[in-house]
Amino acid sequence: MVAPQAGHVANMIGLRPRRPGVDPEGGSGDEKLAGPVHAVEGTAGRAAAATSTEVQALCGEWVQIVGVEDLPDDAGLCPVCQYGD
Ligand SMILES: [Zn+2]
Repeated sequence: MVAPQAGHVANMIGLRPRRPGVDPEGGSGDEKLAGPVHAVEGTAGRAAAATSTEVQALCGEWVQIVGVEDLPDDAGLCPVCQYGD
């Protein structure tokens, strides 16, 4: 087992928001988050979560940080984020 390096922060997870006009359903106007799940570098992810802003995932997609409890059950992990590191 390798001890975590000083300053290492675990990656965060994010989902890409569906913006009004992009979602073909039209919908209620609520901003919905859509899979797949993206991985976000920990430090940047924490900062984005604290300010509720979007942050760039490892694959380059702009996402919002979400908690594990907010993940859709059917959301898969972005393959670029999964295998890119
Ligand atoms: Zn990704």
